[in-house]
Amino acid sequence: MTTNHTTLSILPPAMLGILGGGQLGRMFTIAAKTLGYRVTVLDPDPNAPAAEFADTHLCAPFDDATALTQLAKCAAVTTEFENVSADAMRQLALTTRVSPSGDCVAIAQDREQEKAWIRKAGLPTAPYRVIRCLADINDDCTALLPGILKTATLGYDGKGQAQINSLPELTEAFTKMGSVRCVLEQKLDLHTEISVVVCRLNSDNIACFPCAENQHECGILAYSTVPARLPENLQQQAQQLACRLADTLDYVGVLAVEMFVVGKDENLVINEIAPRPHNSGHYTLDACSTDQFQQQVRLMCGLPPADTHLLSPCCMANILGDLWYENNEPNWQILLQPTNVYLHLYGKKTARAGRKMGHYTVLSDNAGSAYTSAKELHRKLAEKPEKPI
Ligand code: ATP
Ligand code: MG
Repeated sequence: MTTNHTTLSILPPAMLGILGGGQLGRMFTIAAKTLGYRVTVLDPDPNAPAAEFADTHLCAPFDDATALTQLAKCAAVTTEFENVSADAMRQLALTTRVSPSGDCVAIAQDREQEKAWIRKAGLPTAPYRVIRCLADINDDCTALLPGILKTATLGYDGKGQAQINSLPELTEAFTKMGSVRCVLEQKLDLHTEISVVVCRLNSDNIACFPCAENQHECGILAYSTVPARLPENLQQQAQQLACRLADTLDYVGVLAVEMFVVGKDENLVINEIAPRPHNSGHYTLDACSTDQFQQQVRLMCGLPPADTHLLSPCCMANILGDLWYENNEPNWQILLQPTNVYLHLYGKKTARAGRKMGHYTVLSDNAGSAYTSAKELHRKLAEKPEKPI
C-alpha cells in the first residue's frame, strides 16, 4: 500500500484537526495543546469531552460538508474512532495531511479486510470463514466450531458477536444479526490477551510501546497490566509482529494491535487492529516517557516517534458508569488519597452502565502488585455508599 506523505514537519502553533471528540479526542487534544498546537474538534455532541480543551469545536454531524471543509483547513487531521467514514478521510486527504490514511481506516473497519491484510503480512489469525449469505453456512463451517460469529463491520466492546456451537445455532445467529456480512472465527483457547501500540512515521521511524496484558469484563477492557506477565521473548515477538503489520499497511500514526496468546504453547495470534490510540495504551500517560496521544500528535505532524520506555510497572483500570449509584459520583477520595494512583476523568455529563467515564493507573514496584492494588481500589469504589441517616 502506498501513501503520499510529505517529509516537512508541522510545528506549533499550527492548527490540528480531529474527527471525534470523545475521551480519546480529549486526551489527544490535551497532548496537542501541551506541545503548543491548536486543535479543532468535529463532533455533533455539544458536550463532547474534547470540546472543553479544543480551540474550536465544530458541533456538526461527521459527514457535514461545511464542517469537513473547515476541518480541511487544519495543517493535519486525524481521527479518534475507526467507524468514521473512510471516504471523509480520503476527501480530507485531497487538501490536507491525514493520518491514518482513509485506506487504513477502511481496513480496520472491516473484519474481512482486516484479516486478509493480517495474513498478507504473513501473520497468524484465528481460523475463519466469511459468511455472506445463508448458503455460506455448510458442513465446512463445522471445523470452526465452537466458534464466534462477528459482524464484519460496526462491532466494538464485544457487541455484534455470538457464541456458536452448532450449524443450527449459526443459522439462527446469522439471521438474528440481520443476515449482514459476518466472519465466523474458531474459538481459541486463550492463555492471555495482549496488545501492542505501534508508533510509525515510516519504515525508518517506528517504535513500540511495551506489551499490555489485558483483562476484559463483560466484553469491555477492565485492566491493562504492564509489563505483561509473559516471557520476554514472547513480548518481543509480539512487538515485531505489530511492527511488521504497520509496515505492511505503510501505516502513519498510532496503531493498536490486539493479540491472543493461545494454548500452553503460547502461540501468538492477531485478533484485530485499531487505527488510533487505544484504551489498552492509556497506561502510557502515567508510566512511559511519552504517551500514545503525544505520539499521535508527533506522527501526524511528520515528527519521529519519541522514546517509548516504561518508567514503572503499572496497571490501568477503566472506570465505567456502573460505579455511579443513582447518579452520585463515586468516592474519588479512594483514588486521590494514595500517592501512586493517577486519576483521569473524561468530563462526561451522564453516567450509564458500560460507558467509559475515566480510568486510573496504579504505579508499583512490579506488575503483580500494581494489578492487585488496582483491583482492590476498584472493589472499594464499587462499594455501595451508606445512605445518610
Ligand atoms: P473491542 O472492544 O476490542 O473493539 P470487539 O467487539 O471488536 O472488541 P473482539 O476484540 O474481536 O471484539 O472480541 C472481543 C473479545 O472476545 C476478545 O477480547 C476476546 O476476549 C474474545 N474473543 C474474540 N475472538 C475470539 C476467538 N477467536 N477465540 C476466543 N475468544 C475470542
Ligand atoms: Mg477487541
